[in-house]
Amino acid sequence: MKILFRLLLGSLLALGAGCATRPTATATRTAGTHAPAPLLLISIDAYRYDYIERGFSPTLAMLARTGVHAASMQPAFPSLTFPNHYTIVTGLRPDQHGIVSNTMFDPRLGKFSLGNRQAVSDGRWWDEATPIWETADRHGLRTATMFWPGSEADIHGRHPDYWLPYDGRLTADQRVDQVLAWLDLPPGQRPTFLTLYFDAVDHAGHEYGPDTPQLDEALRTTDAALARLVRGLRQRGLFDKINLIVLADHGMASVPLNHSVLIDRLIPLDQLRTVDLGVLAGFDPKSGSAVDRTRFAAIERQLEQPQQHMQCWDKTRVPARFDYGHNPRVPQLLCLADVGWRITTSNYRGHLSVGEHGYDNADPRMQALFVAHGPAFRVDAKVGKFPNVDVYPLMTHLLGIPARPNDGSYDAVKDMLKPAAR
Ligand SMILES: [Zn+2]
Repeated sequence: MKILFRLLLGSLLALGAGCATRPTATATRTAGTHAPAPLLLISIDAYRYDYIERGFSPTLAMLARTGVHAASMQPAFPSLTFPNHYTIVTGLRPDQHGIVSNTMFDPRLGKFSLGNRQAVSDGRWWDEATPIWETADRHGLRTATMFWPGSEADIHGRHPDYWLPYDGRLTADQRVDQVLAWLDLPPGQRPTFLTLYFDAVDHAGHEYGPDTPQLDEALRTTDAALARLVRGLRQRGLFDKINLIVLADHGMASVPLNHSVLIDRLIPLDQLRTVDLGVLAGFDPKSGSAVDRTRFAAIERQLEQPQQHMQCWDKTRVPARFDYGHNPRVPQLLCLADVGWRITTSNYRGHLSVGEHGYDNADPRMQALFVAHGPAFRVDAKVGKFPNVDVYPLMTHLLGIPARPNDGSYDAVKDMLKPAAR
């Protein structure tokens, strides 16, 4: 068993290393005395801010107690997975970084969706922004991503040094072991910036809802993986030397099965192009023809009137607090479901989720977890709610690399750090 396990690890590591696309300029690497402490950014997808109180996350609670714990962290709009993961590593809101949704249409690039491996790994979807691993790389730090949206793409010609194509079958423990294996590399090859991604809590939230025993079980198994990580770091004498940030991209709201807005009962769907349905529906004119534009304008006028369980806007009239609608990839007409509702069609026979996110990013149920622990962070520090765009300048500060222009504020979060680390 042990041998098999080592073999698996070995092959994973080889795969990760094999994916590095660029001959590395080892001579420019700084592994000397001034190297920053390693930084491990951990995302527990859809870990709502209040889940930690349920008693199924003892390791996370320990990290919070001996580190920094925010009351909550506000996602960017829309409160979806890809937009927010890219916000966290760029400091830009989705309208600015270009990953405006999980499903998108771009006149030049075509269709983007989470399951479309070709689109997800196409750097042209991502290159409106610069992820932190690219900047770290340009400043001589090695980087490794144990899954992160954007890490599979060649962005500005670069990947993280070590990365893996997304594979949901990789268990939480295997992901942890891969991170530990990267930390075991010799100094010249060892990454300084790393990511780790867990998705069981998100899956349970969609499948069963946020207030279910199945969700609690996902909290338990994810925490067990975190415990394995902490054990592994302690064995290596690294636990007090590595900065850990554990966060989520968004929260989760319960959506009863019968809470469906049937959009085809309101408008003739065949007269426009549906980009996406669900929590945030998007529509474009069917074509540029005068007839299609006139039809589209009429549908817009109708939907922008008050609706039950949703609100619709032309992209130029989205409320300013969402900071959304300027990017060409945002569809012309947006309909946002009220929290606890979904937008679908009367003939939809697919699977309906009973937990959803993507809603108004100010809603309490969309707020995310934030915990940080390590040599740079204060101990037993409680901080207030803050927006997730601030994580990026915090991380560039920790790595000692320049921050690219961004929507966040280092000053707003520097109190999380020990005075000597500010
Ligand atoms: Zn997510």
